[in-house]
Amino acid sequence: MTKTYDVIVVGGGPGGSACAALLQKRGMKTLLLEQNNTVGGKAMRRSKNGFTYDLWPLIGMPKYGTKFEEVLTELGMELEMSEQLTGMAGGGFMYRPPKKKKYAPFMLLPPGYPEILTEKEQEECGRLFSDMDNLSPLELDALDDISFHDFLSRYNIPQSVYSYLAVLANMLFVVPIDICAASEMMKSLMQMMHGLGPAYPMGAQGQIYETFVKALQRDGGDVRLRTRVERIAVRDGKVEGVYTDKGIFHAPIVVSNAGIQPTVLKLVGEEHFDKSYVSYIKELVPSLSLIGSRYFLDKAVLEDSGYIWFSDNDWWNMERYLKARAGQIPDEMFCMIFIPGGFNPELAPEGKLMIQSATLAPSDPNWQNVKIWLDALDERLAELCPDIRKHTVRRENYTAASVSRLTRDSVVPGQGGECIGLGQIVGQCGRYKPSPKAPIQGLFYVGIDAGGCGVGTHNAVDSATKVAPEVLRYHQTH
Ligand SMILES: Cc1cc2nc3c(=O)[nH]c(=O)nc-3n(C[C@H](O)[C@H](O)[C@H](O)COP(=O)(O)OP(=O)(O)OC[C@H]3O[C@@H](n4cnc5c(N)ncnc54)[C@H](O)[C@@H]3O)c2cc1C
Repeated sequence: MTKTYDVIVVGGGPGGSACAALLQKRGMKTLLLEQNNTVGGKAMRRSKNGFTYDLWPLIGMPKYGTKFEEVLTELGMELEMSEQLTGMAGGGFMYRPPKKKKYAPFMLLPPGYPEILTEKEQEECGRLFSDMDNLSPLELDALDDISFHDFLSRYNIPQSVYSYLAVLANMLFVVPIDICAASEMMKSLMQMMHGLGPAYPMGAQGQIYETFVKALQRDGGDVRLRTRVERIAVRDGKVEGVYTDKGIFHAPIVVSNAGIQPTVLKLVGEEHFDKSYVSYIKELVPSLSLIGSRYFLDKAVLEDSGYIWFSDNDWWNMERYLKARAGQIPDEMFCMIFIPGGFNPELAPEGKLMIQSATLAPSDPNWQNVKIWLDALDERLAELCPDIRKHTVRRENYTAASVSRLTRDSVVPGQGGECIGLGQIVGQCGRYKPSPKAPIQGLFYVGIDAGGCGVGTHNAVDSATKVAPEVLRYHQTH
């Protein structure tokens, strides 16, 4: 006889794994279904040839006092964190001023200012950061309607500072600065200013989500890996369970972590929703993607945990994004590297190193120019850090197509390979964010696309903490 569950969670990404563990902990009989052979979604980890690593740069910022900690505490689990801050929080940003050839460290989080700023420029930056810090909750909400670029144009900040903040918007939310919602940016910048800077689990980011799932199993929940949900069964406007490649599972509640567009347009099917809801879902805009390479080195040539090289020419606004989408390679390509071994040397065999590179790209898994861009990024990295090429014994690429294949079906043209998920842009954040409750009885969304706020993985786990009580309430009242 097939087992019946109170709730089925589709997908074990940061949002799905956290939500499943919380629901089981709160007394619901939970089944988590994940198509891959491990949980973690876009933040999954892998171990190979003595290296342990996330599949791409996951700077993460999972420091204490965050949603990660809140969930781990409720689950009674602990994780050892590395707090090596040099790479991303200090010295990791390298700026090249106009007409200069050399990059110099550039870190701007008050009270620290880069040396190249004059006293007057520092004062104006101080005014900007102090205004940000003093925003009331109502003022913050009003910034859902304003782009980060528009917010910054109220200040007379130097171009270098604008470029730094544009790079941050590109990195944290992977969207162009002139459509990035100012409210999301403000909340994350304030978190960074108040000490929630980078830290990294000793066993890589993916360890967090595996820990959530350990708690789920300890508490009596079921997990099925390598199980792909093909369809969410809906009858008379109510959820009944799921069809998978391994059989049918029954539950009156399904929480989908597969992405709002794939859930509505593919797993449930347009025919079950109003036309207006379907067009709303189709028009949602994804974040951009990051593409790059994993370099396996026979020598530990760097000690830090990462670098972000930037100038006034390489961050993206809409104009630069549209040129890139049309195939034009930028004269200067945005380039960053992340080194998990810089946080915990035990993540690589002794004396060796793994480095992940990244640059911005469109989210379309079928984007034609990807090979040319990856080679251009490789060349750029060879200029910036020649030792990497000298000691590389293996290079593996990752692209929007790999991200889509592993984590999110492409159901709308140009979508699927998004780095973050739903784009945190004006019109899609705060009060404009899709509701986690679908207009079908018993269907909920969890993860980056609904319910939460903040940077990528934080946002997804935040969503889980908001969605779990709603699901429980639904369960108790039905
Ligand atoms: C290159 C790159 C760099 C990033 N860097 C950072 C960073 O530095 N910091 C940060 O916080 N975030 C970063 N992110 C973003 C972050 O990883 C995502 O925002 C986050 O993982 C989203 O979580 P989620 O739970 O919404 O969904 P996902 O992580 O997308 O997980 C969805 C899960 O559902 C599963 N699934 C989908 N469809 C099905 C199906 N039909 N059946 C069964 N299972 C299914 C997938 O396999 C996956 O496990 C990065 C992402 C990428 C790609």
